[in-house]
Amino acid sequence: MKSSPRCYKCGGSPHPKRECPANNAKCHSCGKNGHYQRVCGQSKLLIRVVFLHSKS
Ligand SMILES: [Zn+2]
Ligand SMILES: [Zn+2]
Repeated sequence: MKSSPRCYKCGGSPHPKRECPANNAKCHSCGKNGHYQRVCGQSKLLIRVVFLHSKS
């Protein structure tokens, strides 16, 4: 079972990074540029960061 590839920045069908419509978009969830709110938090890296912070 392999999941269908998606753009991790906009959540749409895969495309070159420079063609991603989310490049100039600002996330309303975390406030950072370069991705949409709907894909925010889906990154394993972000999950890892949250985990480290919650460890305290
Ligand atoms: Zn994209
Ligand atoms: Zn975000």
